Parts: sequence; C-alpha cells; structure tokens
Amino acid sequence: MTTATHDTGSGMSKGVTILGSTGSIGVSTLDVISRHPNRYHVVALSANTNADKLAQQCLRFKPHFAVMVDEAAADALKAELRLKDCATEVLSGVTALEKIASLPETDYVMAAIVGAAGLLPNLAAAKAGKRVMLANKESLVMSGKLFMDAVRENGAELLPIDSEHNAIFQSMPHAISSGLLNDPLQLGVTRILLTASGGPFRTQDLSTFDQITPEQAVAHPNWEMGKKISVDSATMMNKGLEVIEACWLFNVTAERVQVVIHPQSTIHSMVSYNDGSVLAQLGNPDMRTPIAYSLGYPERIESGVGQLDLFDVAQLDFETPDYERYPCLRQAYEAHQSGGYATIALNAANEVAVQSFLDRQIRFTDIPLVIENALEQTVTGTPDHLDDILDKDLTSRNSALEYVGKVASAPLQRQN
Ligand code: NDP
Repeated sequence: MTTATHDTGSGMSKGVTILGSTGSIGVSTLDVISRHPNRYHVVALSANTNADKLAQQCLRFKPHFAVMVDEAAADALKAELRLKDCATEVLSGVTALEKIASLPETDYVMAAIVGAAGLLPNLAAAKAGKRVMLANKESLVMSGKLFMDAVRENGAELLPIDSEHNAIFQSMPHAISSGLLNDPLQLGVTRILLTASGGPFRTQDLSTFDQITPEQAVAHPNWEMGKKISVDSATMMNKGLEVIEACWLFNVTAERVQVVIHPQSTIHSMVSYNDGSVLAQLGNPDMRTPIAYSLGYPERIESGVGQLDLFDVAQLDFETPDYERYPCLRQAYEAHQSGGYATIALNAANEVAVQSFLDRQIRFTDIPLVIENALEQTVTGTPDHLDDILDKDLTSRNSALEYVGKVASAPLQRQN
C-alpha cells in the first residue's frame, strides 16, 4: 500500500482524494474530514457537472486538483477559482479522474461516483495500491473478479462504505485489513444477514405501483441519499447489487447471503457463526459512521453522528422480502448466478431504467421489465478483460434505451 504522508506539525496526515465529492457520500466524507484537520487533508475532488458546489468545496478544502468531467463545467470552475485566487488546478475528462485516483500524494480514495462511471477511476486507485473506500458498488457488480484481483495484486486496501458491508466488516473481527477473506467459513461464518429497510413502498398496495412518481420514489424513509440509489432502494435493486457486492467482498456464495427487511434501519447488517452467535453493528442511519470507520481504520474516530438511543428506537422488526413486490431483488440473485455478463447487463439496464423513470419516460413498474429484457439477451459466463466488460456495458445500455423507447408510451407527467 502507498504510504504518502504529509506532516502537519501534529502528526502524519493522510491525503484523501474524493471521487464524486459533490454527491451525498462526498459531502458526508468532507464533513468527517473537517472534524479531523490534523489527520486528513484533501488532495483532490471531483464532480460531473456541478461546478458551483465543487467551487465552494475547493475554496474551503483547498485541494491540489479538482476534476470536472464536463468540459464546459470545468471552464466555469476555472473562471470562478481564478476570481477567488484559489490555487487548485482544474482538470477535465474521464482520464483526469484516473489521474487523481492514483496520485502519489493520495493515500486514501473515496470511491463515491454514482454508477458505471466509477469503474475506471476505482480500478486506477486499486492498481495504484491505495486504500479504496468503496461506496460505488456498481463497479464491483460490473467487474467483481477483475477488481478484486487488482486489489490483491497491487496491495491495495478495500474498505466497504455501504453501511451494510461496513457493518459486516465490523462483525467479522478476524477479517484481515484488506477485507479479503480466503475462506470465511474457516472463521466459522455460516451466513451474512444483509438488512434492508424495504424502501418507501414496503406496505403500499401493489395495485398502485404503476402510479408511483419519481418524487415518491426518492423519498426514502430513513436515509438521505442521491436520487439513483434512492430509486434503487425503492425497487430493492440496491439490495440486489449489495448481495453481489457482498459475495465479492467477503468471498461467499449468494446462498450464504440472506436479505432481511428491517424497517427501522438500526441494525446495519449481521454475521451468523457456526456456534449460533450472531454479531451485528447498530447505529443511527447516517453514512458518516461507515465513512469515519473507513477513514480511521483500524482506529475509531469521531464522526459527528449522535449516539443511538435504544429507547427511542423501541422496537426492531424483521420481515422476509417478497419477490412480487421487489422483482429486481430476484433478478439480481439470478444474474449473479449466471455470471459477469449478466451482472453487467443488470447494472447497465438498471441505470438506464432508473434515469428514464426519473425523466418520466417510463413507469416505476417498467423498471424490472427493462432489466428482464436486457437479461434475456445475455449469455452466461464472465468476461476476463476490461474491454469486454466495457463493451457489454455499452451494448446493454443501448438495448435498454431501445426497449425504453418502446415502453415509453404512457409517460407519468400526462397522468399527473
Ligand atoms: P449522488 O448522486 O449524490 O452523487 C454522485 C456523485 O458522482 C456526484 O459528485 C456527481 O457529480 C458524480 N457523478 C455523477 N455522474 C458522474 C459521471 N458520469 N462521471 C463522474 N462523476 C459523476 O450519489 P450518492 O452519493 O448517493 O452515491 C454515490 C455512490 O455511493 C453510488 O454508487 C451509491 O450506490 C453509493 N452509496 C451511496 C449511499 C448514500 O447514502 N448516498 C450509501 C451507500 C452507497 P455532480 O454533482 O456534478 O452530478
């Protein structure tokens, strides 16, 4: 692992690059970092188009580099920073993301870009042997084997940010620091119990699902998140992607990952052992806890999250997920069973379907149909090379877009 450090006069400070700093995870990461000015400094930040927010972050955290993927937004950011005498160097384009993920002065990379766009910079961070704090589950769903090989071969550390996987990591006290377990069964692990809130439509009448609006779908009952993951939580595709993520991170088969609906989101996941023990991690639903854990690991650091009040929570409920209500969860299990081509298609079609739903081109109930269509056109097996992964992603996206065109005959805005 690279150990570039920076002496602040009060200990060695770690350099952090945040990919996707303007998003929900990015902002929470900066919040935790701001609580520990002597432990961490920001080396680089990135966004896609939101130049205003990235400018504010640059003025406050003074990174060496800021990347805007969008060229026009990069020009706007440059102009704004020049006006304010900020020395941050502005870069643009996708290759610049790979550069800031692998800088020698970066120790830790927060991988918080949403969707497949995170894959290449996350891989660059792994290849450069960084501590990769992985929020972007989509890259692992697309390229699980390739990604885990890159982590292993380059001595990177992989620490999960997803609250569930972070909880599992915390509930496997014998796990080695990279999160790579050769055989968790040797540790006595029998099952991973992956909790899910069930989203905003857990108890809603199924017959009304085709009337669900984007506004209703992004209003998660417990977590404040970006729009894409909020819709994924409503369909439970998020949990499906997390099942696949857990299989790669913890080297277990999907049969050993059981999804448990737990509406309070107080238990963030559990690990079941062969002696009958179940270890769990609990806390308030706030992503700053797993972010702080991954930044501080193996130490614990202050995160800004309040202490859990169990009397306030009062009750912990558990339910079995119903595949009629959550067909995307079934699709994810089946795709993982079929192999890497299917999980790439699953992820690509889901991204297209969710964006089309948010753009009011298709209904909420069309999301699993778009995905099913993509899965039907997919062969079994797993691609070995990055080019094949990117190629499958592109063809799946194109065919999902074509399918969306066909089903987009009843847009929601006409009904409202
Ligand atoms: P947001 O939508 O809030 O933020 C996404 C970030 O990625 C923004 O900085 C955005 O920039 C940037 N971005 C978007 N598209 C691109 C692109 N094509 N190329 C480069 N950058 C891009 O997402 P979240 O923070 O909610 O989620 C980020 C990741 O973390 C996702 O993979 C999600 O599944 C995962 N995650 C999120 C959790 C949460 O609580 N939010 C919990 C667990 C995991 P801009 O602002 O300019 O659009």
